[in-house]
Parts: sequence; C-alpha cells; structure tokens
Amino acid sequence: MLNILMVGNGQCGNRILDSINRQAFGSKSRFAKFYAKQQYKSNVQTLAINTAVNDLKEMKYTKAKDRIHIPHLHGVGANRNVGRKVFDENKSQIMRNLDERGSFDIAFVITSASGGTGSSFTPSLIRELKEQNDYPVYAVVVLPFREEGTLYLQNAAFALRDIRGSGVDGIILADNQYLKQMGGDVESAYDSINEMIAKRLLFLLDSLDSEMMMVTDLGDFKTVMSGGAGIATIGYYEADGEVPIRTAIQKAVSPSGLLFNTNVYEEASRSMIIIKGDKSSLSIDEISTEVEKLSDSVGHVFKGIIVRKGEYPRVLSVLTLESASELEELYHLAVGAINTEKEKKERVQEDKEVDKAFSQIEGLEPQY
Ligand code: GDP
Repeated sequence: MLNILMVGNGQCGNRILDSINRQAFGSKSRFAKFYAKQQYKSNVQTLAINTAVNDLKEMKYTKAKDRIHIPHLHGVGANRNVGRKVFDENKSQIMRNLDERGSFDIAFVITSASGGTGSSFTPSLIRELKEQNDYPVYAVVVLPFREEGTLYLQNAAFALRDIRGSGVDGIILADNQYLKQMGGDVESAYDSINEMIAKRLLFLLDSLDSEMMMVTDLGDFKTVMSGGAGIATIGYYEADGEVPIRTAIQKAVSPSGLLFNTNVYEEASRSMIIIKGDKSSLSIDEISTEVEKLSDSVGHVFKGIIVRKGEYPRVLSVLTLESASELEELYHLAVGAINTEKEKKERVQEDKEVDKAFSQIEGLEPQY
C-alpha cells in the first residue's frame, strides 16, 4: 500500500483537491465529508492550504482538519512577493502539520500558476518538502486563460520557472485555455476542468497501487517523469461502450484526451500507458502494436494493464515532453505582459498630472 500526500494550494488547488475528494468519497452528498470513508486503496492524505478563508470554506468534500488557513487579510491579491513572505512567516506551522501526517512514498502539490497564494506557496513548499524528505514530489500546475490579464500572465511565467527550480521531480501541466472548450460559463468550465484533472490523478493513484496483469509501478512512473524537460501532461480516454483497444489508446494520446496542447508524436520524450478494462476487450496483440507505434516516435513507453471485470476500456497516458511550443507561446505573451506593466508603472511615475491637480489646493482650507 502506498502512502500518498496530495496538497492543494490556493483557490484553484483547493478546488481540484475537493474534486478529488468528491470522486474518492464516491458520493455526491455534501455531507459525505462528515461520515464517508474515502475509497482510496492507498493511504492518501489530502491537505488544502490557503490565505483566503472563504476559498477554504467553499470546499465541500474535504475534512476541516485537512484545511489550513494561513491568515493574511483576504488573500495575497495575486502578488507573489507578498505570498512568498506570508509562506516564510508561516513555514513552521505548515511543515509541522505535514510532519504530523507521517511519511510518504510520493507527493503531489496542486496549484494554479497565475494566482497569488498557490503560485508563491508551491515553489517554497516543494523546496521544504524536498529538503526534509526523500520521496518524489510532483507539481500539478494549472495555466491561466490567456485573456485573464497581464498580472496573471506574468505570474504564470515566473511561477513555473520557480517551481521548476524548486527541486521538484516533475511538473504535470493542465491548461485552462486549452481545456476551455468544455463550454458553459467560467464556473462550470472550472468544475469540468477540475473533474478532468481529478479523475486522471485518481486513475494514476489507483494504477500505481494495483495488482496489474502487466506491471507498471511507482519506479516506472518516476522514470517517465524524470525524462524530457521536467514537464509532463496526462491524457485519458474512457469508453462508454465496446471500442477496439487500439482506438482507446489512440484517443488517450490525442488532443481530445490531453490536459495540455502538445503534439505527442513530436514533443513527447517518455510515456506510460495504463489500460484498464474487461479481459475480453484487452487484445494483447492490439495493445503491443499500438504501444510500438507510439514508442517509434516517443522513445520509451511503459505499459500497464489492469483487468477489471465487466468494465469498458479506460486508458491513461503520462507523457513527459522534451519541448513544448505552447509553453514558448505563453512565455512570449508573458514578456509582453511584463513590459506593459513596466511601461504603465514608469508612466505613472513620470506623469505627475494627478499630482498637479492636487497641488492646486495646496495651502487652501475648505470654506463653509
Ligand atoms: P490563489 O488563490 O491566489 O492561488 O489564486 P487562484 O488559484 O484563484 O489563481 C487564479 C488562476 O487560477 C486563474 O488563472 C484562474 O483561471 C484559475 N482558477 C481559479 N479557480 C480555478 C478552478 O477551480 N479551476 C481551474 N481549472 N482554474 C481555476
């Protein structure tokens, strides 16, 4: 049995964690957190951290003891410098809480790249975890909608760089912009995106702790994640009827199944494919042919097969990337955003128009 730690930082991280707990409790009831037992096979500890108490209160499926509020008025207002300072001031409380939860085989830290709290707490937290423990720590990082504004874009660029430099063992990317075709208003897009991410992570946890017909395990996952440029993403496909297993595998690495925009055949560096389903649908020949096709362009592909009686095929792919043109594009936008902010600041400093207006009443008093 694996001991797994999952931390959700900031609003986005908290909500994805809550979606994981909702799916793991296997109940849609809002009282599930009070009486239900999580259906994890592994020992999974979930912990939500936030400076904004309302974000923590909003969580419906995560127990109160698993929510830590770090008081700082109403959050850190998308300012990563403030966020870093608040983390440092509260570091010992946060790390003590984590220590009390025992030791782990693997940890995931979930956050958005672009807000204030999650994006600034995550690199510092991972650095602390890596210094104090010897288990692998992976970051699950959500990229912003590109139209969310200059501050979010610049935060995303710096946060991702800081997370990469934190000693993290790998970064799994999910991109709101790419996934927004989920449709609906922003809130329901968030819910669908969170559910997609949660479902993939739970499938992964379940697989790492499974008795498989063909084994992939934590060691293989670590090897996959250490390949490429330290950046990865996850793909998934779930059949709702009988489909040839080769089709299910293709869909799990196709744009419709991925959390981040990449051409797997051009950008992936290592991969892990986990296949679940009824024995009758798991043709070993078909699986081998498809996996060989993938390894021709990707390099190494680990495969795992889990037999689940009566279930339609489901396939998860973990892909590390050696290049990511979408990320280059994001950084290009971020540079524009940083320059816009810089110019605005300089204009305000140079331009004393507002001060001139105020100076007109200098020395005067209101007359009634
Ligand atoms: P923080 O609380 O200060 O860490 O900030 P947030 O986590 O709210 O970060 C803002 C970014 O996260 C924006 O790019 C939002 O689009 C994104 N975001 C906020 N909530 C969610 C959510 O529930 N799901 C997803 N996928 N993205 C979210």
